[in-house]
Amino acid sequence: MLALAAHPLGIQVVSLDPGTLSPAAQVADAIVGAYDDEAALAVLAQVADVVTYEFENVPVDTARWLEARVPVLPPPAALEGAQDRLAEKRLFEEIELPVPAYVPVDDLDGLAGAIEDVGLPAVLKSRRLGYDGKGQAVVRSTELAEDAWRAVGAVPSLLETLVPFDRELSIVGARGRDGATAFYPLVHNEHAAGILRVSRAWEDGVTADLQRRAEDHATMLMERLGYVGVLAIELFQVGDQLLGNEFAPRVHNSGHWTIEGAETSQFEQHLRAVAGWPLGPVHPRGSAAMVNLIGTLPDAPDILRIPGAHLHTYGKQAREGRKLGHVTVVAGTPEACEAAVGEVLEALRGI
Ligand code: AMP
Repeated sequence: MLALAAHPLGIQVVSLDPGTLSPAAQVADAIVGAYDDEAALAVLAQVADVVTYEFENVPVDTARWLEARVPVLPPPAALEGAQDRLAEKRLFEEIELPVPAYVPVDDLDGLAGAIEDVGLPAVLKSRRLGYDGKGQAVVRSTELAEDAWRAVGAVPSLLETLVPFDRELSIVGARGRDGATAFYPLVHNEHAAGILRVSRAWEDGVTADLQRRAEDHATMLMERLGYVGVLAIELFQVGDQLLGNEFAPRVHNSGHWTIEGAETSQFEQHLRAVAGWPLGPVHPRGSAAMVNLIGTLPDAPDILRIPGAHLHTYGKQAREGRKLGHVTVVAGTPEACEAAVGEVLEALRGI
């Protein structure tokens, strides 16, 4: 999607990906190589004016190797903070974004102590390489603690309290090379089995105060990191309190609705930021939502006949639980958008 947004701006994209079938390779020039393949990285450094990433498990060493040769934005420090849940929590604490109560856990004995401190129910999360609910296990009783420890892979983890949130929100915004910022409206995210299913960008209950606080937290984080590019923070809303769950130093799934739903898409915005160009206007073009296509793709006409629905498929091999594409819905009113979201979900039932 970054490559598709780059073309009309006159930006040429070259991707680096270990796989030959990557989505980017289907629409732009590609280097196939492992993230630690120095020969491949050297080619990238030579052809690129600026290097960015849209996957947060790129090794920090790779980003730093490249940074010695070519600007890398967002800065590698952002990758470093997002890859380790403990570092991430500490960053949130530094910028005074409250987080759920948590305790680092290094072994099974430590887990017993952590349960006493945090209480139950709680969630055990591996510090590294967790996403879409992977590397996570809910702990509801001390008897099941060992199962949870094994389920996350018996690796350094965090135990955090299971938050009885009212809803999950995310703030997606960008910071330019000149320090200017721009934020999309808070998005309401609904998950199924730990995977984002639906994002709604018109959420009624979002007050100007909530929006401002979310933007302030994101601005503080970006300033702390010297950030350039699009960043997302996933938040839990409990009453009128916001708790930080995690951040993504990249374009984010909860911002995909902006392709048709906002004046400037998050992908164009990211490119503008890392190129050192002015950020674009972010206002929504109506009431917008996004439905992820997970595991299986529908027949295109079944989606395209729905008013306001736009289909995006990523050219990925189908696999259970894998995000293969998404549908954006844009409508004149929240009610019309919700009706169209209902039709999309109905079309996806039973495929
Ligand atoms: P994460 O990978 O941390 O974003 O977690 C994936 C999803 O699991 C979140 O979007 C929430 O729906 C749920 N989740 C994660 N942590 C917690 C928590 N501490 N309390 C309640 N739900 C959580």
